[in-house]
Amino acid sequence: GEAKEINLLRLIDEIQEELVLKFGPNIDWELSVPGNVFLKVEPGRFKQVLLNLCANAIEAYNGKKPFVKIACFKKEDKFFIEVADQAGGIPEEVKGRIFEPFFTTKEQGTGLGLAVVFSLVKGLGGQISLYSDSKGTRFLLSFPKELLKD
Ligand code: ADP
Ligand code: MG
Repeated sequence: GEAKEINLLRLIDEIQEELVLKFGPNIDWELSVPGNVFLKVEPGRFKQVLLNLCANAIEAYNGKKPFVKIACFKKEDKFFIEVADQAGGIPEEVKGRIFEPFFTTKEQGTGLGLAVVFSLVKGLGGQISLYSDSKGTRFLLSFPKELLKD
C-alpha cells in the first residue's frame, strides 16, 4: 500500500467498529482526538498498530467491561497517540518480554500483536513508551511531525 492522507478520527471510528465486531458492543471508550488531524501514512498499517493495542487493552479485562482511552495530541516537534486501559497492569516479570515475537500470556494468544506494533512504529520513525502499574497500562507512541499533514 501507499501513503495517503487520512483523517485520524475517521480511522479510529473504523477501528472501533472492527473491535465491536470482534469483542461485542460492551466497550467503554474515552476519545480525546481533535477532528482535524490528518496523517500521511499507509492506512492499513497505521490501523493495525491501534487495533493491536486496543485489542490487548480489551483482552486485559478478561471479560469484564473494558474501558479504553485513545488520545492524540501534538507537543513540541512530535505527535503523540496513546492507548490506555485500567485493567490492572502488566506484571513486572512479563513487562520485559511483551515485544518479543511469540511471547504471550494468553491461552489463544499469538504473541505477535506487540511485535508487529513495534516494527510498524519503528518503520514510521516513531517511538513507544510503556507505563504500567497495578491500575492499568498506557502505551504512548510518539511520531515525527512530518507524519502530520499541515
Ligand atoms: P497476544 O495478545 O497474542 O498475547 P501481544 O504481542 O499482543 O500478544 O501481547 C503480548 C503480551 O503482552 C500479552 O500476552 C499480555 O501478557 C501482555 N499485554 C499486552 N498488552 C497488555 C495490556 N494492555 N494489559 C496487560 N497486559 C498486556
Ligand atoms: Mg495482542
